[in-house]
Amino acid sequence: MKCENCTKKECSNKQRNEDRQNTPADVLNSNDENEEKSEFHKLANAKIFLSDCLACDNCITSDEAVRVFQQNQKELFHVLNLNKKCDTSKHKVLAVSICPQSLPYFAAKFSLTVTEAAQRLCGFLKSLGVHYVFDTTIAADFSILESQKEFVQRYRHQNQEEHAIPMFASACPGWIQYAERVLSSLVTPHICTAKSPQQIMGSLVKGYFARQQNLSPDKIFHIIVAPCYDKKLEALREDFHTPLYNSQDVDCVLTSGEVFQIMEQSKVSLREIAEVAFDTLFDGVKEAELIRHDGRKSDGYLEHIFKYAAKELFDTEVKDVVYKALKNKDFQEVTLEKDGETVLRFAAAYGFRNIQNMVLKLKKGKCSYHFIEVLACPGGCLNGKGQAQTEDGKPDKALLRQMEDVYATVPVRLPETNRQVQKLYQEWLDGMDSMKVQESLHTKYSTEKPAANNLDIKW
Ligand code: SF4
Repeated sequence: MKCENCTKKECSNKQRNEDRQNTPADVLNSNDENEEKSEFHKLANAKIFLSDCLACDNCITSDEAVRVFQQNQKELFHVLNLNKKCDTSKHKVLAVSICPQSLPYFAAKFSLTVTEAAQRLCGFLKSLGVHYVFDTTIAADFSILESQKEFVQRYRHQNQEEHAIPMFASACPGWIQYAERVLSSLVTPHICTAKSPQQIMGSLVKGYFARQQNLSPDKIFHIIVAPCYDKKLEALREDFHTPLYNSQDVDCVLTSGEVFQIMEQSKVSLREIAEVAFDTLFDGVKEAELIRHDGRKSDGYLEHIFKYAAKELFDTEVKDVVYKALKNKDFQEVTLEKDGETVLRFAAAYGFRNIQNMVLKLKKGKCSYHFIEVLACPGGCLNGKGQAQTEDGKPDKALLRQMEDVYATVPVRLPETNRQVQKLYQEWLDGMDSMKVQESLHTKYSTEKPAANNLDIKW
């Protein structure tokens, strides 16, 4: 049996991979002796398998595999239980940030609107003992704004800097993992340095929010609810760790499906939960309304960068971005013509087959695109393996269609018009072009391929 999305003819580590796929997460978890003996334990005992996980089935070390599996519902209940004990030195502020692509999953599962699902999910998490529930859309705002600025700079310097163009999007950890571990220096200098929304949310919660609350970062336990397992791997990256406090910006990622398991096993339906508005990073202020970014099934990087670049570089207002389908619906392009010449050529390449075609073009020096929005999952983030699968691990196409329909009803907002973002640039980051912007909103990619024998699974 070949892994889904895998395009290799032969998989040299097939047997090892299959062995691991059939090994429950619990067996891999070296902390089992510390299991919580709490009322929540049975809820958190769900098993995950590697075959359910990474979009790219790519290279991960055995240490990373263990640390990915350790991020499960038990971690949430471990913190909830410690918070009930008398020893306040072990108490943590529990903050949960929810990706916008996870909300349509709960809306579709419980036949709710996205806003109802969001507010009831917030009510459910607070009923468990979570202190703050945030929406990560604000982090995506920052990520898009930084990506579009970087694209314009790269475009202007393309004749001086060899790797400036094409620029690849940086939001999908499945793609980043593949680029770093397999493609390495061929591709990494082309990847936008803006952090993904997940990691910017980590900086916001463990940086800005912790400071507002007079807390050190290690006193906050930060969980992200996301559509895929790849984000668990992203949370482990060394550059998102603060050694002074021994604190990761994101402590644990739970998939939408894992949160649904908690509800299922505790026999809770979101339909019966009271609505509670999301928190914001500003003390006492609640989230007024839920919004999404314009674009296809991602956070809309292609559309925002395209419109911004058209205006900044060619003084052209683009109202509607028109996609042209190429080989399949997950490989499309968008162009801007000026005086009979194509001045901007962008592509959306979703799924590993389309990504590999794009990389092949780059290798041959035949990549004519200026920007490529890359997502590891065919169909985009709503199709992440942490939410769009049936119980037996098959793609759930009916659920995906429902998710796409409800997601399309969420109102759209431009990142530039978010006043909270403007306030944070001033209060937290000392302006739009400061050193702090580089430190908090940008990252670096590894250009070294890890030794093959360190990897547990090979592409
Ligand atoms: S496309 Fe989206 S859901 Fe799929 S791996 Fe990338 S970030 Fe996760």
